[in-house]
Amino acid sequence: MRFTVGWLYPDLMNIYGDRGNILTLLQRARWRGFDPKLLELGRGNAKEMEDVDVFFFGGGQDREQALVYEDLLEFKQPPLERAVAGGAQILAVCGGYQLLGHYYQTFEGERFPGIGLIDVRTEAGKQRFIGDVVIETDIAGLTPKTLVGFENHSGRTFLGPKARPLGRIVLGHGNNGSDGMEGCIQGGVIGSYLHGSLLPKNPHLADHLIRAALRRRGVDELSRLDDSAEMSAHEQILQRAERR
Ligand code: GLN
Repeated sequence: MRFTVGWLYPDLMNIYGDRGNILTLLQRARWRGFDPKLLELGRGNAKEMEDVDVFFFGGGQDREQALVYEDLLEFKQPPLERAVAGGAQILAVCGGYQLLGHYYQTFEGERFPGIGLIDVRTEAGKQRFIGDVVIETDIAGLTPKTLVGFENHSGRTFLGPKARPLGRIVLGHGNNGSDGMEGCIQGGVIGSYLHGSLLPKNPHLADHLIRAALRRRGVDELSRLDDSAEMSAHEQILQRAERR
């Protein structure tokens, strides 16, 4: 069975090792006998998006966000909305997370409209939030409940009533440094500030995305993998957080 990952703007929205999320999704599908395929979706390209199981939209500085938001609105928004309505999943990190919301506004006041797929809005502040992050999520069935990574953003993201937080901050700043929450979940979309990259150290979240996307193809369960190396990396950050 084919498993397709759609990588939004790989040339522009891909910082702090976000590419590791792509490698993790493809390899965890391959280890289970699926035929993984990567679809790179740069500016202007919106071919075959209906075949994608999981989309990834990585981080980018204000400059890169300015270069992609118009293309996102013009070429990607309709097929992304259709794909998510059909059961595809999206993982969006930092700059990508921000542009899936209503808008991202830079500290200088320049506002980039987002596609409003998630009910969030982001305005940059003067201070950058940088450092390790540990959160506790209540995604049903996720074990362990912790997710770890690191953050580097000036955006302060606030959730509207249609979105719910990905998790509660244990260490770090998260969405806005004030409400104690990080990321967002809305329908088949997960937004987060966790770089790291996120999925290699959180294999349980990777499998959550793969499983959710393949449910529409009649795949209810994924075979277990030996995640001892991945979870050792996860534990390292948890222990570092406890020493703080
Ligand atoms: N430019 C955005 C911000 O500073 C996103 C940064 C990122 O993707 N790491 O908040």
